[in-house]
Amino acid sequence: MIKANAHYFDLSPNYLFQDIAKRVKAFKAENPQADVISLGVGDVTLPIPAAAVKAMHKAADEMLDAKTMRGYGPEQGYPFLLEAIVENDYKAIGIDIRPEDVFVSDGAKCDVGNIQEIFDASVSVAVPDPVYPVYRDTNIMAGRKVSFLPSTAETGFSPALPDKAFDLIYLCSPNNPTGAVMTRDQLAQWVEYARRNKSVIIFDSAYKAYIRTPGIPESIYEIPGAKECAIELRSFSKTAGFTGVRCAYMVVPESLKALSPSGEEVPLNRLWSRRHTTKFNGVAYIVQRAAEAVFSDEGKEQVKAMTDYYMENARLIREGLADKGFTAYGGVDAPYIWLATPEGMSSVALFEKFLTEAQIICTPGSGFGACGEGYVRLTSFNTRENTLKALDRIGGLNR
Ligand code: PLP
Repeated sequence: MIKANAHYFDLSPNYLFQDIAKRVKAFKAENPQADVISLGVGDVTLPIPAAAVKAMHKAADEMLDAKTMRGYGPEQGYPFLLEAIVENDYKAIGIDIRPEDVFVSDGAKCDVGNIQEIFDASVSVAVPDPVYPVYRDTNIMAGRKVSFLPSTAETGFSPALPDKAFDLIYLCSPNNPTGAVMTRDQLAQWVEYARRNKSVIIFDSAYKAYIRTPGIPESIYEIPGAKECAIELRSFSKTAGFTGVRCAYMVVPESLKALSPSGEEVPLNRLWSRRHTTKFNGVAYIVQRAAEAVFSDEGKEQVKAMTDYYMENARLIREGLADKGFTAYGGVDAPYIWLATPEGMSSVALFEKFLTEAQIICTPGSGFGACGEGYVRLTSFNTRENTLKALDRIGGLNR
C-alpha cells in the first residue's frame, strides 16, 4: 500500500480546540435556552466596507460583456492592485517596495503555510510560544524540528532574542493570540539578529490595521536593513472584513537572498515567484477590485470606522476586566485580549467557568502552546451589545 507522509504523524493533534468545540456544542444542546455569547472566535462580524462591495458589483457586471470579461489573470496579482498596495501600504509611510516584490494571494494562512517550501528541509525554525499554530504545523509537516521562543508576561508577550542562531524565525505583531505589539526597538533588535546570523524573519502583520499607538511599526521594513532579512505578510481579512472574500499579500524583497546548492546567493523573490506561479492561478478579478477599493478614500474611511468599532470593544473588555479585578493584556493595538486566569486556575478551568456560569465562550491559552497556560484569549469581534452583556456577566461571577 502507498505510504503516507510520515511527518504528518509528528503533528500533535489539536485535541484542545476540538474538545472545546465539542464542549460548547454539548452545553448548547443541554441548555437550549441559554444566550451563549462568543468572545472566542477570531472572525469578524460587521459587514465589509461598502466601497469594496460596490467594486465587486461593478467587476461582476464587467463579466457580462465579452469585451470586459476577465479570464485567467496574472498569478502574482493585477498591476492595479499591486500598485495600490505599494502606494498606500508602503510609499505612504516612506517605504520603497517594488510592485514586483508583492504577491497577491487568497489568504495569509496559505502564504504563511506555503512560504517554508522555498527553504531547505534542514533549516532551523523558531516560532513564538504561544503561537498562531500554522507557523509551527506547516514546518512539522515539512519534516523540520521547531523550537519555541517563550512569550510571557516577563518578555512583554513578545519573544526575547534567543542566545543561538535560528535560520527561520516567525514573528507576529500585532500578535494573535496575546494582543501584544512589538516596539521599534524590539523589531530593530530582531533585524540586527537576523542580519548577524543570516536568518530570515517571516513577519506576520495581518492585524496592522488595529495599531493605534503612534510609533508602533506597521511594517518590518520601517527598520533599516529589514529588506535584506525579512518577508512580510498582510491580509485584507481583519483589515477590511475579507475573511469570507479572501485576499492577502506577501512581500518578498529582491534584496533578500539565500544560498543555492552550489553556494551562489539567489534572491528568494525568484524562488517564491517560481513557486507561486507554478502552484497558484491568481485571486479572482472581482476580489482584487474589491481589495483595490479598500484603498480608496471612501474605503479607508470605512476601514477606520470598522476597526475603531472593534477597538472600542477591545477597550471596554480590557478596562471592564481590570475594574473587575482581572489582569488583562493586549487590546490596545490589537483586537485580542489576553486574560490571566485567577491564581492557580488553568486555562481550561476558566473556559469552563465562563461557559457554565456566564454562558461566555473564550479560547483557552494552552491551545496556543505551553506558555499560553494560565491565560484565555478574548476577542473584540462581537457586537457592542454582546460585548457589554458579556462583561456584565463576568462582573457577576463568583471568584
Ligand atoms: N495570520 C494571523 C496571525 C492570523 O491570526 C490569521 C487569521 O486568523 C491569519 C494570518 C490568516 O488570515 P487569512 O484570513 O488572510 O488567511
